[in-house]
Amino acid sequence: MSVSIKKLQEQFGHKLQENVRMANYTTARVGGPVDGLLPINTGSELIQAAQSLWDMQIPFRVIGSGSNVLVSDKGFEGVILLNRAHTLKIHSNENPPSVFAESGTILNTVARQTALRGLSGLEWAATIPGTVGGAVYGNAGAYGADINSSLIMATILHPESSIQKWSAERLDYQYRSSILKRQKSPAVILSALFKVQRSTREAAVAKIKELSKRRKDSQPHGASLGSTFKNPPGDYAGRLIEAVGLKGHRVGHAQISKMHANFIINNGGASADDIYQLIRLAQTEVQKKFNKVLEPEIELLGEFNDEE
Ligand SMILES: Cc1cc2nc3c(=O)[nH]c(=O)nc-3n(C[C@H](O)[C@H](O)[C@H](O)COP(=O)(O)OP(=O)(O)OC[C@H]3O[C@@H](n4cnc5c(N)ncnc54)[C@H](O)[C@@H]3O)c2cc1C
Repeated sequence: MSVSIKKLQEQFGHKLQENVRMANYTTARVGGPVDGLLPINTGSELIQAAQSLWDMQIPFRVIGSGSNVLVSDKGFEGVILLNRAHTLKIHSNENPPSVFAESGTILNTVARQTALRGLSGLEWAATIPGTVGGAVYGNAGAYGADINSSLIMATILHPESSIQKWSAERLDYQYRSSILKRQKSPAVILSALFKVQRSTREAAVAKIKELSKRRKDSQPHGASLGSTFKNPPGDYAGRLIEAVGLKGHRVGHAQISKMHANFIINNGGASADDIYQLIRLAQTEVQKKFNKVLEPEIELLGEFNDEE
């Protein structure tokens, strides 16, 4: 193990949980042990933890809901900051109105609370099972809207302790991607400020209800990471995977969903490697038959091996 647990214990005391299985903290319910897991409840705790870990040169990652990361069965050498910093402020009387949320706030909470205040524009976010931090990092989106179209400013902590406010332009958003994601930047997203418009509580709540129903009717149930691959330009990853005959295909206890081939479902007891093998198989078959590259939307955390 490369990380000094003693150093971590000295720094974080009883709050540090050692040798924690990440399967308990990811929506796919897979993932091996991390050296240390530190629950974070406030923005200042997030800043202090990140600065200490940078100072100690200990690798770490911030995880929100773990709904977009496939963590290796071998786990991750370093520390996971489990981000639950959740201050939410809805500035409904300002002109224009806006919504401030710390990065550990659940998107569904942001969307619902905003709608209840009669503000519109974030209803789409109610359907995504992640946090503000994960969404800002990966430009999450649904039903024609995304973080790029909603964000005014994200507050970001960089190594060397500088806190900066970055606009959507500076985050250089692309489809399910930001400059932070593309460059695998060590920066920590602290909070986000979103634009919203005045509407009525009834209309905004009804829109969330409608989008949630659409989601429920079209999305597979069961533990997953959502869409595994980005849609290639002009096509759909799910259509391509289905067309190569992999819909319903299983490896171990993981299965390409029969309902939506871009979802891989953990049927109970799947390993991260089962999911990874399905990812590689889909990529290989789609490349062979259609000469198209399936680029993962999800991120891999830790070590994965291709089978010979
Ligand atoms: C059933 C299902 C449906 C989904 N549907 C959609 C959808 O419609 N649209 C969509 O875009 N996505 C969708 N997703 C994917 C996922 O929910 C989103 O990408 C979400 O925004 C990820 O948030 P998270 O908190 O779970 O991020 P995590 O998985 O915890 O982290 C993702 C990445 O962000 C980084 N990160 C997280 N927080 C921070 C932070 N504070 N600072 C710096 N880096 C951070 C992590 O280190 C990691 O690299 C779906 C997932 C599931 C399981």
